[in-house]
Amino acid sequence: MFRHRLLQRQIRKHLGAETVIPDQWQGLLRAVEEAYEQFDHDRKLSERAMQLSSDELLAASQRLQEQYAHNLTALTRLRASVAALRPTDAAGAAHAQDDLLTVTGLLEDLIAHRKEAELAMRRAAETAEAANRAKSDFLANMSHEIRTPMNAIIGMTSLLLELPLSPEQREYIDTIRSSGDALLDIINDILDFSKIESGRFEIESQPFDLRLCIEQVLDLFAARAAEKGIELGLYCDPAMPPVVVGDSARLRQVLVNLFGNAVKFTERGGVAAAVTAAPLTSGWRLNFVIEDSGIGIPADRMNRLFKSFSQVDSSTTRRFGGTGLGLAISARLVELMGGHIGVTSEVGKGTSFSFGIDVGPPEDVEFAAQLPARADLSASRVLVVDDNAITRGVLERQLASWGLAVTGVGDAAAALARGAGCDLVLLDFSLPDMDGLKAAAALRAAGNASPVILLTPRGAATGAEGANVAARMTKPIKPRELHAVLVRVLQGGSATPFAPARSDSAYDRDFARRHPLRILVAEDNPVNSKVILLMLERIGYRADLALNGREALRQLARQPYDLVLMDMQMPEMDGLEATRRIRAVASAHQPPYVLALTANARKEDYNACLQAGMQDFLSKPVRIDGLMAALARAHEWLHAGGRAASVRSWPELEA
Ligand code: ATP
Ligand code: MG
Repeated sequence: MFRHRLLQRQIRKHLGAETVIPDQWQGLLRAVEEAYEQFDHDRKLSERAMQLSSDELLAASQRLQEQYAHNLTALTRLRASVAALRPTDAAGAAHAQDDLLTVTGLLEDLIAHRKEAELAMRRAAETAEAANRAKSDFLANMSHEIRTPMNAIIGMTSLLLELPLSPEQREYIDTIRSSGDALLDIINDILDFSKIESGRFEIESQPFDLRLCIEQVLDLFAARAAEKGIELGLYCDPAMPPVVVGDSARLRQVLVNLFGNAVKFTERGGVAAAVTAAPLTSGWRLNFVIEDSGIGIPADRMNRLFKSFSQVDSSTTRRFGGTGLGLAISARLVELMGGHIGVTSEVGKGTSFSFGIDVGPPEDVEFAAQLPARADLSASRVLVVDDNAITRGVLERQLASWGLAVTGVGDAAAALARGAGCDLVLLDFSLPDMDGLKAAAALRAAGNASPVILLTPRGAATGAEGANVAARMTKPIKPRELHAVLVRVLQGGSATPFAPARSDSAYDRDFARRHPLRILVAEDNPVNSKVILLMLERIGYRADLALNGREALRQLARQPYDLVLMDMQMPEMDGLEATRRIRAVASAHQPPYVLALTANARKEDYNACLQAGMQDFLSKPVRIDGLMAALARAHEWLHAGGRAASVRSWPELEA
């Protein structure tokens, strides 16, 4: 409309102000205006194209092409009408006609221009397509590369955990183990990123231990936080259900990223996480807040936070690393779990990320009922002495939630002044005015006989407890452990929280006797073969080793095996080729069951294994329970004369 009037004015300039523009011209002007509008639309489209995915780019380019064709027809018609115009006022109208012809000429140029842009876009779409393919190949390769050493880390730690260990050693190895597990989850999630992008992503629903999931994230960052001299705190709502149904790996991924960011961007103070639960008609709404006292985020950068590959300040990449993908993934994951991520921040003060997700109730109600009833701690008075405001704040909130009367102070002097009359003291080891052991002795000397729980930083030299300390806990303090220690100290309970009684060994030494199998392991990587042979040995098998596919074939020709654990990528002959040959060659022996053992974890890989004639698929790192389950399936299959269907479907494998 605007342009229409502009054109009218232009024409009037030439024809004189009083000229009544003839009707036939009006239509023409509208046509010009329409053409303009369409071009404007095209411009916006190509601008947006910069942000589109390759699929959308292709679609957009298609739309543009249609539009050009349409514009071209409109323009041709317009030109013809202008040329055919027989104005009444000869002199002025000739000018106007000239003007209109200039306008149409310009439009023609524009079309040529747009045509070029369209071509560029098409090329961009093709490049993006190729880049997408390269990206997913790259991700698959990277995942393979990382999985191989991870296999050794996880396998070896699980073997290590079987040895007699001191509680401290066990705790450290447990941390290595759970960090390894978490790392693997991340790798899997990176693989899933392309799925998220294309909207083909599904959230799982499995029962899981909510506290454990959160505590493992805390463990993952405990060492890094201790190195930086910052503290981590966790508050868990007493109303929080122990077991919920949801996607623990995705929840952990979101938590890992938010915790990771908070730790990364905080140099003083620490990070406090709080989890609260509100009951829904079925299940719960869980709310998470992760708050740090770090560098903060400028208000004008907030809108860029959740964009992929975007970082608030490009210099942070150099200083802190990271790809700028974390929040983009997290935001999408949280949306898929029924919530959204919110953020508030103040530069120089800190940042607080929060999100809510919906989780279901566990079907197996018995499991929840089996949990011990929580001991009543209310009516006890407790003094919290810690100079770190984050830790003190979280402890105060947690203790109060259990009904204890809490007083918090920041140094030993204040503790001595306020300590009288309390039933228990939680004492930080490193106070600004004296160390915790001295403070405990000073409290005792001042006539305060209440038991002291010493909170030591991770990795601190563990000296003798001394008569003044009833218990010692390593930071970060986990609510579940804290509760157990309080019960023990206040009520003389016997539970020791430091070395939780491990359920029976995961390694069933009797397994091989119940599932006798002659096993050949085909694996080229020396570390991996060591891990798998050791695992097999622990459950009672003596397996043979072949270093590649060709060698495996030679050994199979020499003697019969029931089962081949087949690596996929090997020098000389890979696992797929070896399996195809096993299946092709008629042998005197019963052909073996082939179980793929591979660091490739994609569905395509699984299908390739099946096509090559393998029966089952285990992705590295191999876990002992997964391995035993697969061996049991193999045993059953062989027992049934190789007739029983043992092939599992992909979703079943992923679960
Ligand atoms: P990665 O992909 O490894 O997670 P990243 O941490 O840089 O890389 P995001 O997690 O998406 O990427 O975070 C994006 C950016 O947001 C960060 O680079 C940082 O600039 C800013 N940011 C995120 N969390 C915080 C925080 N707690 N405090 C300050 N800045 C933050
Ligand atoms: Mg991050």
